[in-house]
Amino acid sequence: MKQAIQDAKNKNLNWQALLIEEAQTDIKVYIKDSILANKPFKDISKGVSEIIEELIKDLESVVLKDKCKVAMPLFAQKIYNNSVIIFGGLNKYILIALAAAAIGKANQTELRTAQEFLNIRNSSIPPKEIVIPAERINVAATDYLKNVSDRVNYLAEIEAKEDYTSKVNMRNVAELQVRQEMHEQELQRLSGGGNDLVWIVPHADCSERCEKWQGKLYSISGKSGVIDGINYQPLNDATDIYATTKAGKIYKNGCISGFGCRHKLKPYQKTEKPSMIPAAVVAKEREINNTQRRLERGVRRYRERAELISGINSALSKRYKAKAVELNKNYINYSRNNGAAYYPERVQI
Ligand SMILES: [Zn+2]
Repeated sequence: MKQAIQDAKNKNLNWQALLIEEAQTDIKVYIKDSILANKPFKDISKGVSEIIEELIKDLESVVLKDKCKVAMPLFAQKIYNNSVIIFGGLNKYILIALAAAAIGKANQTELRTAQEFLNIRNSSIPPKEIVIPAERINVAATDYLKNVSDRVNYLAEIEAKEDYTSKVNMRNVAELQVRQEMHEQELQRLSGGGNDLVWIVPHADCSERCEKWQGKLYSISGKSGVIDGINYQPLNDATDIYATTKAGKIYKNGCISGFGCRHKLKPYQKTEKPSMIPAAVVAKEREINNTQRRLERGVRRYRERAELISGINSALSKRYKAKAVELNKNYINYSRNNGAAYYPERVQI
């Protein structure tokens, strides 16, 4: 297991989401390197399967293991299809041919490829006697590299989805699943210990979805009533709220049960009532949380761009890498300044 993931585990963060994200980056880079090295499909397929098997082995949640068995091969297929277009033999050859022609060192085949690409081939004249204007080669080579880097940027945006129709990425699925399992264990522990009444303990960076449910008293077994002057209602009221995605998938998306919910339950005791957190504090903390996720995406995007363009355009790769390092520093500084836990450093300097 990579150090960053081990660190996330030690810090009690959602390391399984990070593990899935890391596997996605590994698959992209592995496929790119393999295509550039002209590996046969069979070998690439085997290598990808090994990355996926390793991921499934390292995951803890049985449900996530099963979901990744479906999602990751679909993801890898999509990355492969796109990568063949971007990094496939012909494209790479055109680049080499253009570069060689630009410095006047093209061999016969390269010269012909460059001429064909620039649409100035004439079958009646030997390639060597056709003069390609240097300006035209430079423009074509620059355009071509630009095109490749645009496609690489697109590749860096692709994320694993749960299945063909889903718009929900696997990171969010992992977020949902891990919280849900934690809550199930907690519910079992609480009702096993004879606690039917529980608080949903308020936390400051609460989502809008959860805000109206937090700080109230609930019954796990679904009763309603009053105790010590405090109303309680069935816990299902808060948890069993369903949302339908555009693709028609139905998700549980209530408090405790929903995406990224970080609420905790606490057994009722007569003397203790959890203190409410002012709405302004809640809004501020939520903003910090959303900003952190956005900054993390930026780091990953540039890290992937750097790795995917390396071996093709090393100057651009270095620029992307530097950008990833810079964004990562911003992310860590932002998290520290706002007293928020952050995922360990993902970019090696
Ligand atoms: Zn919540």
